[in-house]
Amino acid sequence: MSPNNIPGIIPNWIDGKESEAMSQNTFGKLSPDTGKELYKVVRSRTDDVHKAVGAARNAQPAWASLTPVQRGDLLYEITRTLRKYRREIAAVVAAETGMAPGAALGETGGAIALGEFIAGEGRRFYGRTTTSAVPNKYAMTVRQPLGVAGLIIAANTPIANVAWKVFPALLCGNSAVLKAAEDTPATAWYFGKIAHEAGLPPGVLNIVQGYGEEAGAPLVADPGVDVISFTGSAAVGRKIASVAGARLAKVSLELGGKNPLVVCDDADLKAAAKWILLSAFSNAGQRCASGSRIIIFDSVYDQLRTMLVQRTGELTVGPDDNDDLGPVINRKQLDNMLAVIRRAEQNGAVILAGGHRLTGDTHAQGFYMAPTLIEQVDPHDEISTTELFGPITCLYRVKNFEAALQMANDSPYGLTACIHTRSIHRATEFAHKIQAGVAVINAGTYGSEPHMPFGGLRQSGNGTREPGTEALDIYSDLKDIYINIDPEKL
Ligand code: NAD
Repeated sequence: MSPNNIPGIIPNWIDGKESEAMSQNTFGKLSPDTGKELYKVVRSRTDDVHKAVGAARNAQPAWASLTPVQRGDLLYEITRTLRKYRREIAAVVAAETGMAPGAALGETGGAIALGEFIAGEGRRFYGRTTTSAVPNKYAMTVRQPLGVAGLIIAANTPIANVAWKVFPALLCGNSAVLKAAEDTPATAWYFGKIAHEAGLPPGVLNIVQGYGEEAGAPLVADPGVDVISFTGSAAVGRKIASVAGARLAKVSLELGGKNPLVVCDDADLKAAAKWILLSAFSNAGQRCASGSRIIIFDSVYDQLRTMLVQRTGELTVGPDDNDDLGPVINRKQLDNMLAVIRRAEQNGAVILAGGHRLTGDTHAQGFYMAPTLIEQVDPHDEISTTELFGPITCLYRVKNFEAALQMANDSPYGLTACIHTRSIHRATEFAHKIQAGVAVINAGTYGSEPHMPFGGLRQSGNGTREPGTEALDIYSDLKDIYINIDPEKL
C-alpha cells in the first residue's frame, strides 16, 4: 500500500465495510506540496453519521463483554499490524501533509508506541478496593464503558491523532465513530483497514469522512454518542462544548496553544536557539505545542536575535528528509496566517525573517510559508494572542525572570511552556509557577510521550488529559460496588 494505490475515492468505514456517502457527493483532497488533487473523499452528512452511530451501538455490547485483557490483546494485534505497515502508513501521512518521510515515520512510531502502551493497560485496568465504615462490608470501584465514543481530530499529526483517541476509547469497552480530519482522510481510512485486517469486529470502529460542520457537528449532536473527544481549535471546541453541554454529554477538549519559551541570561544560547527553531518551525509550526512566543532577557536579546535570524535564513523548506520544514496543510491556513502578519505589520511589527509565502519554482504550487521571525509586537496584539498554527514566532524583550514569568502567563492559552536557564532555582520556580499543562526545562515546547497525560488550561482545553492512563478516565465511568459479606450480621 502506498499513496499510489489508495482508492481514488476515500470511503467511510461503517459496520466493517467501506461505503460511499449516501448523497454520493465527494470533495477533492489536495497535496500541500504540489497543490494538485491526490484523490476524492466521500462527503458524509447527518444520515451517514447516524448510520455509523447505529452500527457502533449495535457492536458495543459484544465488544464490552470481552475482558479488558482480551480487548487489549486485540488492540495489540492492531499495533503489530501498524508496525508491519509503518512505512506504507508513513508514505500516506507524508503525501497528505507534506511532512518529510522521515518525520512521518517518526510520527507513525509514536502512534505504535501509544498503541502498545494502551494495549498493556488491559492488564492494569485497576479499580480501588477500600474499607467500609460498616462491619462485614467491602467497598470497591470498577471502570465501566460509556457506550459510543465520538472522536473528532485535527490533521497536523494524523496517525498519532487517530491513535491517541481510538486506542483508549476501545480499550475501555466503548465502540467508536471517528470523524477523520478532512485534510488527512487516507490516513484515517488506512488505520480502519489495518484495524479490520487485524481482526477488530465490524462496527466497533467506524470512520466517517467529511467536513466539520457537515459530519462533525451531527456526531456531537447525536444522542447515541455518549462521550465526545475532540482535538482541534479553541473556536470549534467552544461550539462542541455548548452542543454537548446542552445534552449533558461527557466531553474532552484538547485545543490550541500560544506557547512561551523563555530564555534567561544564564542560558546556553546555542542550545536555546536550536530548540527555539525546532519548537517554532518543525512540522511547519503545525503543533498545538509549538513555541510561538519567545521571551528573552534584555541582556542576551540582541545576541540571540542575531543567531536566530542567521539560522532561520539557513533553513531549507520542502517535502524531503533533508528539509527542515514542509508546507502548511491547506490554502486557507496559509492565507489566514499571511493576513494576521499583514495586520501586525500595520501595527508596527518588524519582520526579521520570512513573513511571506514562498513562490520560487519548487514552492509556487504548494502551500509553503517562509519560516517567520517577528519582533516589536505588543504582548496583547492579535499576533501575540491568536494561535496561527504555522511557522511563525514572535520575539519579546523582558528585563528579568519575574517579567518573563508574568508575560509567559499572560495568555488566553495554557498548554505548554519551556525555560532555558542553568539555574536550578529559576527552573524549579518556572516549573511550579507557569500556568500550563506541560512545563519543560532546557528543551522545546513540544515532545509529549504516550504514557504521560497531555492537556492544558484556559482555552487550551477543558481540563481533561490524553493519553497516559488518564485517558482511561475520559472513556470510562467509575462504578462503586459494595459487598456485604455476611448479610445476616448487618
Ligand atoms: P479545527 O478545529 O478547524 O478542526 C478540527 C476538527 O474538527 C476537524 O476534523 C474538523 O472537520 C472538525 N470540525 C470543524 N468544525 C466542527 C464542528 N462545528 N463540529 C464538529 N467538528 C468540527 O482545527 P484544525 O485547524 O484542523 O487543527 C488545528 C487545531 O488543532 C489547532 O488549534 C491545534 O492547536 C489543535 N490541536 C490540539 C492538540 C492537542 O492535543 N491539544 C493536538 C493537535 C492539534
